Amino acid sequence: MLNHKNILDKFTDSELYQLTSELIKIPSYTGLAEQEKEIATFIHDFFKTENIQVEFQEPLKNRPNVIATLKGTGNGKSLMLTGHMDTVPPYNMINAPLSGEIADGKLYGRGACDMKGALACMMGAMAAIKRSGIALDGDLVFAGVINEEQKSEGTEYIVRNGPHTDAAIVGEPSGLQIAAGHRGLEWIEIDITGKTTHGGTPHEGINAISKAAKLITSIENDLVPKFKKRRHPLIGDPLLNFGVIEGGDQPSSVAGRCKLFIDRRWTPLESFDLIMDELRGLISDIKKEDANFNAQVKRYFADSNMMLHKPLEIDLNHPIINSLKRGIKISLGRDPEIISFLAWTDASLLSNYAKIPSVVFGPGHLKNAHSEDEFVDLSQLKGAYESYVLTAMDFCDGDIGND
Ligand SMILES: [Zn+2]
Repeated sequence: MLNHKNILDKFTDSELYQLTSELIKIPSYTGLAEQEKEIATFIHDFFKTENIQVEFQEPLKNRPNVIATLKGTGNGKSLMLTGHMDTVPPYNMINAPLSGEIADGKLYGRGACDMKGALACMMGAMAAIKRSGIALDGDLVFAGVINEEQKSEGTEYIVRNGPHTDAAIVGEPSGLQIAAGHRGLEWIEIDITGKTTHGGTPHEGINAISKAAKLITSIENDLVPKFKKRRHPLIGDPLLNFGVIEGGDQPSSVAGRCKLFIDRRWTPLESFDLIMDELRGLISDIKKEDANFNAQVKRYFADSNMMLHKPLEIDLNHPIINSLKRGIKISLGRDPEIISFLAWTDASLLSNYAKIPSVVFGPGHLKNAHSEDEFVDLSQLKGAYESYVLTAMDFCDGDIGND
């Protein structure tokens, strides 16, 4: 019988906090050249030192994923622990973004919460199991991926090329609750075309800004009220946000063009085709009454072959949910809540495109992600680390050990 206490002790608290701090000190934010190369190399070296099988993948030139594997003995289920190595830029952070400083039970810096803390917990979990000398029945895989904050090429690469496991945990900051779903997310661009003329002769032109106002009113009055009827029991209502509007040249010209950028978050009760058809339907209805109304709808990333950012949903009776519940219960002494995550994650790609049932579980709170004083509580790191170890033992081995 395994003794999980002995295994948890194999990677100490101070090692865990130190590792998180070191990951934060390596900048990997959007806009840097070879953005994730240094942190990927650091993670690769960590696994080499721990004698854990590790390799790079190269989804983008000089921007590698890192894949580490603890090979199982062959008869168990395989599990992937995964997180992104990139972060958003420091923007106007009020604390030093690359400090990795610890104070008052918190660890500070860009990526502390989103999501270098989770990466450290996952790396520590792999190391602890390896150091303990036990072999799980199924494979335990770590995947550090690139560019989630932009186009998720790191996880798309895994979808296309593997590794493919029986389940995955994405360590985005769920506050150590089990996030069993989230909305899909797509950016939509609407181009409204008018006709430019002098502001003193407006009747000679077609004002694209006025036409955009017409469309916005129609979306608010005719579309948004339908969302309540599509409420998903876990994930909630669909959402639509007017994020950016731009148009016109100067005040004395009739605006000949206007662009509207929408953030549309949808539930499993909708589809991407439905949401595009609905917008096109509103446009054709307006056009029936106003021959001068011209608008085109397209996906913001229409030129790329980027996978759709569909909703995440997992069967609440799936074995990974049960293993997580058991692991969390032992680690934290409480039953986790089942929640919906309020942002989109790579779990969607693994689940919808690679057909790997996936769940979001990680240290820290989403409200601290991307924030001006980003931090993660040390207690959250410890809880995540322990939960990852125990969940892996339960899921890959069917044996969580005794006290
Ligand atoms: Zn994230």
